[in-house]
Order: sequence, then C-alpha cells, then structure tokens
Amino acid sequence: MDPILLRCHDYPFLMRRWRKVARAARLEMTAFAEADGFPVWRLASSGADEGGVYLSAGIHGDEPAATEGLIGWAEQNIPLLRRVPCLVFPCLNPWGLVHNTRTDAEGQDLNRTFQHDGVPHIGALKAYLQTRRFRLALTLHEDFDGRGLYLYELERRVPFWGEDLVEIARPLIPIEGRTLIDGRRATRAGLMRRKLTAAVLRRFPALPEAVYLHLHHTVRTFTFETPSEFALDQRVRVQVALIAECVRRMEREAEAAPKRG
Ligand SMILES: [Zn+2]
Repeated sequence: MDPILLRCHDYPFLMRRWRKVARAARLEMTAFAEADGFPVWRLASSGADEGGVYLSAGIHGDEPAATEGLIGWAEQNIPLLRRVPCLVFPCLNPWGLVHNTRTDAEGQDLNRTFQHDGVPHIGALKAYLQTRRFRLALTLHEDFDGRGLYLYELERRVPFWGEDLVEIARPLIPIEGRTLIDGRRATRAGLMRRKLTAAVLRRFPALPEAVYLHLHHTVRTFTFETPSEFALDQRVRVQVALIAECVRRMEREAEAAPKRG
C-alpha cells in the first residue's frame, strides 16, 4: 500500500497536502469555520461562483477513500485546477476523520443537517454558497455494507452519466450487486438514480449535502459510494477515476454550452 495512505486519519497532514495543491493550483485556501476544535477548510478558485465544480469529502470521518480520493485527484490535476472553476471542501468532519468515526463529537450525522443552520460550520458553508451555482457537484462517500461500488445520480440534465460512470469503475473494483440499498431499489446494478419529487423529499426530513446542493445550487449531482471492506488503495483509485471522468465531462459540456450574455 502507498505509505501515504497509512496517514489517512492524520488531518493536519491532509491539510498540508492541500496547502501544496492550493499554492500550485493558485487556489485560495481558507479556514472558514471551526468544528469540534479543528479548523475547517475550503479551497476556491476566483471563478468558483461562475458555474464550475463543487467537490466535498470527509463529512463522514470513517470513509477515508473519500478524503484520500479527493486529494489524490487534486495532486494529479494541478493544471486542470488552474483552469476549471472549483470549490473544494476537503474534509467537513475533521474530528470524525481523526477518530475514524462517522459522526461529529456530539454524535451527529452531519450529512443529515443541511435542512437547518444549527451546526455552525454547515451553516457557514451554506451561507457561502448562497448565490453560487455549479455545473457539477460530487460528494464522496463509502459504505460499510457495500459489496461493490455504487453511485447516486440526482436527475435533471440529460443525457444521464450514471451508466457510463459504472463502466468507468468496473475494471477497478466489483460493482454492487444488491438491488435494494438502504431500503431503496437500484436503477440497475451499481446505480441509484433519483428524481427529487415531493414524495422523495418527504423521505428526507433531514437533508443530506447532495440533496441540498441539487435543490439549490447544482445542475448535476453525484454521490460515490466505495465499499469499505475492500483495500484502501483500490477504493481511492475508484474515487479518483470517477472524479476525473465527471470533471472531464463537465468541461466538455461547458465548452459545448452556448455562451450567455
Ligand atoms: Zn458517508
């Protein structure tokens, strides 16, 4: 295993790596809030409010392929980060990452708190987003029950990408075979495509980040779920490959879009 992955719960180390990325890619890196005694950071390019990509990891602290996949992708894509408008939240639950725990220090699942502003750093994140719009949002996760990779695609823009993304992952890791995940039926193996209808939203009284983003800020929204029981370096490679493919597609879509104004 890559020795760097042995430090996947070392938050200061992770942020040192991000500081290098920020310098090389000319991103502004800001500690925008504090959570459970840790600074919470965001990285932004100056054009981030003009329709780029939103990337976020580590809202669940026991999902290290998410935080490692994001920094791994960023380290490999400095020229792209200079070019593509982006807003990055490298780790939204530092206490959880350090303690290898899903929740924050109070036992809250932060990915169920986007409906209110009671969690200060989630409220600060939402306030910062206010008028910002993104072509693409990727929220990176892992699943302890996962027997293979699966992903959520929130429906809006066609053509959908979900089927192709599953094929990108297939050579790298088994694809989830369960057709029922958290009591909900898969669109097909490895893919949960969801339309945010009123009926679906009733099932989300406690809003996850991806649903909140899709309702208010983004055109395309995906959540990747790598299976925690597989080797960490393999899970990281899958996250990197999926981020890379989505950002490539977003760039192509942006180039093809008619210029406004
Ligand atoms: Zn998660």
